[in-house]
Amino acid sequence: MRKKIVAGNWKMNTLPAEGVELAKGVAAGKGEVCDSVNFIVCPPFTHLHSVIETLKGTAIEVGAQDCATEVKGAYTGEVAASMIAALGCKYVILGHSERRQYYGETSESLNKKMARAYENNLVPIYCVGENLEEREAGRHFEVCKQQIEEVVFNLSEEQFAKLVIAYEPVWAIGTGKTATADQAQEIHAYIREVLRSKFGAAAEECPILYGGSCKPSNAGEIFSKADVDGGLIGGAALKAEDFLGIGKAF
Ligand code: PEP
Repeated sequence: MRKKIVAGNWKMNTLPAEGVELAKGVAAGKGEVCDSVNFIVCPPFTHLHSVIETLKGTAIEVGAQDCATEVKGAYTGEVAASMIAALGCKYVILGHSERRQYYGETSESLNKKMARAYENNLVPIYCVGENLEEREAGRHFEVCKQQIEEVVFNLSEEQFAKLVIAYEPVWAIGTGKTATADQAQEIHAYIREVLRSKFGAAAEECPILYGGSCKPSNAGEIFSKADVDGGLIGGAALKAEDFLGIGKAF
């Protein structure tokens, strides 16, 4: 049985006190959601400590939204994986399309970030996905394959066993446009096949999350598909009720 995960990517939203309130709201309602759903919240770096403290003793885990390529040193403005891990973070989102698009994230930098994450026992949530032009040209399979081959294929079997993948079509992120459940299943199954070609049966255990305008009203149908193991949620993760509602959709 693969892990079911609902992860909230808060992006650059909420002030620290608002983040703590949001975390409290998620914790307060978690009991109404089936125990087998794992909730993760990924606040901005500045709130990691307070959110981790708030969620101590609850089943909700915390992740960061990125980490540095380097171990430590003179890299002004960067945050090392070791710092995140020392705070009590368990996960780190890597390769989000906004970082690929606005901050020049490449497979080369992502290979380094993956290494830093594993050195610090952080579980990467590695994001892949095509943009609208690529989807319209029918290149979505090839784009996801390349993003996986160039980074995930460099992992050891032991590292791969801990990985979480998020398929996020860029055209569906923050646009209100969601992939249909069948579109999600088609590409999730393809991603699993790509993973199987390298890691064999271990691919069956890898959670593949869907991300892109997921909300309580559409999550149920998307999550009902065989190869969809949960969601990476942006906008709807900023309201505890909506975020929990997505978890209840399982
Ligand atoms: C995301 O950016 O990870 C995301 C899925 O955003 P949204 O849910 O807002 O589309």
